[in-house]
Amino acid sequence: MADVKINPTLCENNQLCFDICPEGVFVIDKGKVVVAQPDDCTECFMCVENCPTGAVSID
Ligand code: SF4
Repeated sequence: MADVKINPTLCENNQLCFDICPEGVFVIDKGKVVVAQPDDCTECFMCVENCPTGAVSID
C-alpha cells in the first residue's frame, strides 16, 4: 500500500496532483487539496513528478 503524503509546508495548493492523478487519490476539501484514497494509488509517480513545489511524496 502506498503512503501518499502532501507536505503542508511545501504545498501551495496548485492542485496539479488532483488534476493529474488517474486514480482519484486526491480530493478538494474546502478549497484545499488533500489525500483521500491512498489505497487506490498505483505508484505511477505522476503527482510527484508534476508537483511544481515538490510537495507530494510516495513511500
Ligand atoms: S502516484 Fe499516481 S496513482 Fe498514486 S497518487 Fe500519485 S498520481 Fe495518483
